[in-house]
Amino acid sequence: MDDCLFCKIVKGDIPSNKVYEDDEILAFYDINPATPIHILVIPKKHISCHNDIAKEDEALIGKMHSVANKIAEEKGFKEKGYRLIINCGEDGGQEVMHLHMHILAGKSLGAKIA
Ligand code: AMP
Ligand code: ZN
Repeated sequence: MDDCLFCKIVKGDIPSNKVYEDDEILAFYDINPATPIHILVIPKKHISCHNDIAKEDEALIGKMHSVANKIAEEKGFKEKGYRLIINCGEDGGQEVMHLHMHILAGKSLGAKIA
């Protein structure tokens, strides 16, 4: 998608602070961190939002979670824990219309979700 911010990051047209990359997945630090550690995990393939995940994407979505686990281990917050968030649509507060998983870590987030 030519006008998609995260597709531009995948292509390297916009720089990012990369944490992980393979042929299907990219992870990079959020530019406006909400927590001491705030990483975004995205599929390289353009999927606009959670609603648009197709049957054929199931393995890819599973891989996003495996990558999150790998990052948690490598960055040293696996034991303390973290929160994974995927915002979807207007009520979900999604601003960038390319599916992404937020990894929030580095402080206690408490039990309240919203
Ligand atoms: P969401 O509200 O779930 O769509 O979250 C979008 C996230 O993308 C926000 O946390 C932004 O801070 C982040 N973001 C926007 N532009 C960039 C960028 N160029 N590099 C890294 N993160 C970004
Ligand atoms: Zn995109």
